[in-house]
Amino acid sequence: MTLRTRAFNCLRRDSLLPLRCLLARGLANQGTQTSLRSSPQPRKELGDVLADVIKTTGPISVAAYMRQCLTNPDSGYYINKDPFGVEGDFITSPEISQMFGELVAIWCVTEWMAQRRPQQIRLIELGPGRATLLRDMLKAFQSFVPFKSTIADICLVEASPTLRTAQHSNLCDSAMKETADGFSSITRYGLPIKWYTNLKEVPRDVTSFIIAHEFFDALPIHQFEHTQHGWREIMVDYSIPERKTPLSLPGQTRSFDEKPKFNLTVLPYYTPSSKVGPESSSRYKKLPVNSKIEISPESWDVAKDLALRISEQRTPESPTGSGAALVIDYGPAKTIPVDTLRAIKGHHFVSPFEEPGTADLSADVDFTALKSVAEREGHVAVHGPVEQGDWLHALGIGARATVLANQQTTPEGKDRVAKEYHRLVERSGGAMGKIYKVMALTPDKTPTPVGFGGGVVEDGQGIE
Ligand code: SAH
Repeated sequence: MTLRTRAFNCLRRDSLLPLRCLLARGLANQGTQTSLRSSPQPRKELGDVLADVIKTTGPISVAAYMRQCLTNPDSGYYINKDPFGVEGDFITSPEISQMFGELVAIWCVTEWMAQRRPQQIRLIELGPGRATLLRDMLKAFQSFVPFKSTIADICLVEASPTLRTAQHSNLCDSAMKETADGFSSITRYGLPIKWYTNLKEVPRDVTSFIIAHEFFDALPIHQFEHTQHGWREIMVDYSIPERKTPLSLPGQTRSFDEKPKFNLTVLPYYTPSSKVGPESSSRYKKLPVNSKIEISPESWDVAKDLALRISEQRTPESPTGSGAALVIDYGPAKTIPVDTLRAIKGHHFVSPFEEPGTADLSADVDFTALKSVAEREGHVAVHGPVEQGDWLHALGIGARATVLANQQTTPEGKDRVAKEYHRLVERSGGAMGKIYKVMALTPDKTPTPVGFGGGVVEDGQGIE
């Protein structure tokens, strides 16, 4: 991490301290904290808490708003609900077809072979949702016995207690136990599994194969605008939106009957964040006035951690490190994301500012930023990003779909497999095969992985 990035992170954390205190105070009306009071208070909506914070201390960053909406321990979107599937708010690739998890599993096996078969590995998944991807991967690993027998344990990083319970019931028959640093159980395949809320808590002692599918898009972003006076942070305010109407008097921009709402505002003055964030890369510094950018220092931290986990696992047989990370998400391959904060509810886009905490908020992943952090500070080779459709084809989704379709005994079954295949690989009209990208981190100077231009490294030892 460069000095600038580190400084920015410190400043970001410090600047959130007043917010944290206020949120803690605001949330004292909610959930577990009510026990501290003599009589229980009515539960406060997250929107009311955030409005109170803004009214008291001024606008908050988009990152702080996103973090509260998604993972506030009482009312965050992910904390109390299972948002997946037709009944939920959105559907992800592993939920569309088992083929997705199977091909991610095959990629891990090919990468393990390319790295001369490390003896012991840990599977880590960030943000596993319902654990559908992991369930399909574990099933697929049963066909690759030498690989399967090297898996020492599985570690999941999950912020949501509700989804942790869903993951446990999807993967395990044994009970879940609370441990000193998280939760643990045993999967149906007999593998120890542990849950953590933060990647930093996951032990670093073993070669890790790490999957992050639709995880980075949930990490908070900051937005900045390059004004005549320099970079300024775009913040979330709670106010009556400024608006000129045909009947406005000169200088009058408000209609007085409106109620305050959450809205975006460009801070008129600089802050530590707006001084340091846009200065942290030459990609931002050269942008002209009126440009906007989104940056996610929290994502940079995770990318650096993933890369270091790989490059730190050095042995005489693997002098540049061992293990791999696979990041699958949506976002541009090269350009800097701009204005991509979005909210999804019931499979439709809604305003990110309506009823905070009730819709999924996400933003495009800046793959170029993740790549440069991983290469520069994590000392790994970064492959891609490539489009999901191309990656799945390189892994053999066509052949797998044909086998699956042939196994179906009804025309409806065959039709379903065909539709799932097309949904995953389709490239036209902003479909999943194009907008989702796949990027891999591997130890420096190891062969190019399958799916990124490389082939299977045959070592004559067999995989079944
Ligand atoms: N990978 C799954 C789910 C993607 S949704 C799939 O593709 O189906 C995002 C997941 O990340 C959810 O499990 C959510 O609870 C988790 N998550 C979001 N923000 C997180 C954070 N800051 N820390 C840990 N987990 C988080």
